[in-house]
Amino acid sequence: MYYEIEIISIVILSLLGLIVGSFSNVCIYRIPRNESIVFPASHCPKCRKRIKPIDNIPLLSYIMLKGRCRNCKSKISIQYPIVELLTGLIYLIVYLIYGLSIQTLVYIILSSALIIIAFIDLNQQIIPDVISLPGIVIGFIISFFVPYISFVDSILGIAVGGGIILIIGLVGSVIFKKEAMGGGDVKLAAMIGAFLGWRYIIISLFLGFFVGALAGIILIMSKIKKKRRRYSFWTIYYLRFVHHPFMGRENYFLVPRVLKICKKERPD
Ligand SMILES: [Zn+2]
Repeated sequence: MYYEIEIISIVILSLLGLIVGSFSNVCIYRIPRNESIVFPASHCPKCRKRIKPIDNIPLLSYIMLKGRCRNCKSKISIQYPIVELLTGLIYLIVYLIYGLSIQTLVYIILSSALIIIAFIDLNQQIIPDVISLPGIVIGFIISFFVPYISFVDSILGIAVGGGIILIIGLVGSVIFKKEAMGGGDVKLAAMIGAFLGWRYIIISLFLGFFVGALAGIILIMSKIKKKRRRYSFWTIYYLRFVHHPFMGRENYFLVPRVLKICKKERPD
């Protein structure tokens, strides 16, 4: 019975991820433009024609329409299926790590917020306050109701996360004589800190910088054209946001859990 529940849960969570990913695309497009995320219904940004439900199925519609608008045939950005697939994949991974638990629920919400922020930042170079500021409050409130993080840990996470980026930004602006880290980065780190607590935000930021620096070095050494290199760098750099929900200690037991599911044993 556990096996069946696992398989059904995996399918449901992945599908939910694809659907939320589709909605995330709307947020990524509309939030920086100060448009409502609910109204009007999805439309083609070129010809403004309303998108029919049949053409709005995550992943499938993009493939069936061969990446073009049904009406005006203008190209649909590859970013749409990428965001959907990425969200679906991350929901699946979060489930495989945390199972049917409150942690899965909290971390899929955090993951989605981070994916939306990462892509808005990638496109517009801004981190929207409308996500990060409520995120800080929500992360803090959640800490009162869940067993895996205390409100003290959450508030320390806000202070440590925001504080580290603030200090790096100040030192950076003195050394490089220009803004190294914006206020958006400070609020984002505070938000992630609210969800993860002070220990994991330190590890997380450290890993983030390490991954960013490594990606930078590899790209500089590679033969990719300069403009493309810059874009690739920022993509990798911002995708680091997405790994934050995996910072819990249970991470490393992902593989045994998957093995147990495959062997039809009850995962812990
Ligand atoms: Zn169109």
